[in-house]
Parts: sequence; C-alpha cells; structure tokens
Amino acid sequence: MSLKTLHEIIPVGKPHAVPAGTRTSNSKGSFLAWSWSQWFSSFCHQCALPLALFCALSVLPTLAQPPAKLAKSLQIYFIDVEGGQATLFVTQEGQSLLIDTGWPGNNNRDADRIVAAAHDAGINKIDFVLITHYHDDHVGGAPQLAAKIPIGTFIDHGENRETSDTITQKDWLGYKQLLATGKYKRIIAKPGDILPIRGIRVEAISSDGALIEKALPRAGQSNPACANSAPPLADKTENPRSLGTLITFGKLKILDLGDLTAEKEHELMCPLNKIGTVDIYIASHHGFNQSGSAVLVHAVTPRVAIVDNGARKGGSPSALDIIRSSPNLAALWQLHFSEDAGPAHNTAAEFIANPSGLDAADYLKLTANPDGAFAIFNSRTKQSQNYAAAK
Ligand SMILES: [Zn+2]
Repeated sequence: MSLKTLHEIIPVGKPHAVPAGTRTSNSKGSFLAWSWSQWFSSFCHQCALPLALFCALSVLPTLAQPPAKLAKSLQIYFIDVEGGQATLFVTQEGQSLLIDTGWPGNNNRDADRIVAAAHDAGINKIDFVLITHYHDDHVGGAPQLAAKIPIGTFIDHGENRETSDTITQKDWLGYKQLLATGKYKRIIAKPGDILPIRGIRVEAISSDGALIEKALPRAGQSNPACANSAPPLADKTENPRSLGTLITFGKLKILDLGDLTAEKEHELMCPLNKIGTVDIYIASHHGFNQSGSAVLVHAVTPRVAIVDNGARKGGSPSALDIIRSSPNLAALWQLHFSEDAGPAHNTAAEFIANPSGLDAADYLKLTANPDGAFAIFNSRTKQSQNYAAAK
C-alpha cells in the first residue's frame, strides 16, 4: 500500500511564524494565501474606496510569485507500521536516516510504506538504516526493504543478546545474511559515538545495554522525579539493548531511545539527568508501560511527544498519562488510537493518524527549521500544527 499523496508541507518559522500549536490547512499554497490575506486585510482594511484599486494592484502581483527561498529544513516521516517502528529522517541535502524497518511478512506491507515515504521525500536510496534492536517489529522488515530500495550503511548495537527467543534469533540471522552479502557498510555504535550523517547530529545515548557515562553539555541537573522511583527490575530481552539516539538539527533536539526499558531510563536519569531537555520525544517502546517512565519523560520535558503505537500494541494508559502530564508538553501525537487506553487516555482525535476502526496507513510528518520551529502534518486530516521556535 502506498502512502497517500502528501501535500506540500508548509514553511515554518519566518516570515510566516505563527503561535505554537496553531493549526493550518495544508493544501498547496493555502498557508501563504492565508498569510497574505491577513496582511492584505491589515494593510488595506482602512483604505478608502479610491485607494482600494491601488491596494489590490500593489498586492496581487506579489501573490503570484513563488515563496521566498526557505531555510534548510529537515523532514521526518513517522510511518505507520502497525505498532513497530519506522522513522525516516531526510535532510535538505537529501541525506537520509531510517530508524528501524517495521515487521516482516504481510506481503511487503511495511517495506512498501517505507519506500513510499522515501519517494515522497524525493529520495531513491536510504543512506543509513539504524536498527535499534533485533525484535521482529524493528529489524524484521530489513530484508524486504533491502530488496526494494538501495541502502548504504546499517547501524546497530552489535550481536543479538536474546538468542533464546526463536523469532528474534530468526530476525537476527536474516539481518546477518543481509550484512554478509557485502553490499552494505556496517557501523556498530557505542554510547557517545557521533554517527556520520550529514545535516543532522546523531549521538548514540544507549547501545547494547551501555549508556553514556557523563551528562551531555548543559545537562546533569538533579532529577526530582527520582525521589518517587525505585530502580525497576531488569528486562532480559533485547529491549534494554536498544541503540538510542539524540538527534540535533540546529536548535531542535529529538530523542529516540527505541524500546529502551525503565531500568535503563532510571540509570540514565537518576540521580542526575544526563540528557537534559529535548523538543521532541519519540515515545520509547511505542508507549508501552515497560518504558517511558516519569524519570525520563518529565525530566526531558518534551514540547511534543509522538507515539508510534498500533491499535493494540503500545499506547498503555499509564504511559500515555505520564506523557500527558509532562510539565512542558504542548501536544501528544499518536499513529493510532490505542484500544487498550480508551478515550480517557488517548490524545484528541486531530492528533491521531489512524483513529479507532479506521486504519488507512496514515502517517505523521514533521518538518523542522534549524531555528527550532517545526510543523506536524497528519496525512489523514491534511492539517498541520505549527510550533514556534522555543525561546
Ligand atoms: Zn518495538
């Protein structure tokens, strides 16, 4: 299934900056038209009748001109892979990073959706595919994807550590076969590594169970949420091995820790917050309640959280509640309505790509400017919400 045609994403930031959370239609040109109509109205509404023609003549030619050259933007597609992860970053220069490949099987469903997003972004190759860990919903789709689009380099945390699980081991062997073809470069990332992706800074925070040892610059504050939190029990699966990253684009910070579990969050965030604050939190573990504890979420204080949950995978009521009660949150977005959470815990319908009973593979797309302003587009509603640069 291919993605729906994406309308031109609106420019964000100057000269059309609007207040955080402002909703705009995303049909082509409508935002510019709206801006100019506002300007026209404010400039001309006091025009006397004889001046009206002059007003119109002085404005109309400008309406026909293309918009001013935009600042270099970053596009991020949150592709619906039904409760797995597939997040595609494409820089203005066309350099690309895909975090995880969705599920195997399903007649190439997830690979097709990823390729459709890549084509929508104007690329025919994925430069880097980062595999957070070797669970079915993250690496399972890698062979199908590799058969459909050229890939440059795979990035991962090293060996599979959950060899006792049949499905995980099968996926790992499938991935190793891909690497064994010799067609791809491979990077095994360690915490603190900066990955060689141009246009964005991608720093490994967690990998193979290890975490950054020192606080990042401007981080290291004590974390009050730790007072109410005992270290959780250790998860024995691949989840705590997740290769997690902090992605920086200009002034914008985006946190993606894969399926990193709560005991690693505690280690990373208590007693000192080693990450600092971020703008966008890609909810760990699809919003499943083994991850996304308050010691993480309430300390990184995201302005926006995006949950890549399925209708019946992730999106736990308590995890969504933690996000919604985060002190600086402007909006929670979800790829699906969570049936488990029900209306009381889900975000509002306009922030959900695929509502209850309506799964049309709708996606979310974030477009960011280096000044920190960004917009999030919902392919179902064709609406965008704009978020001004943080002060
Ligand atoms: Zn997962």
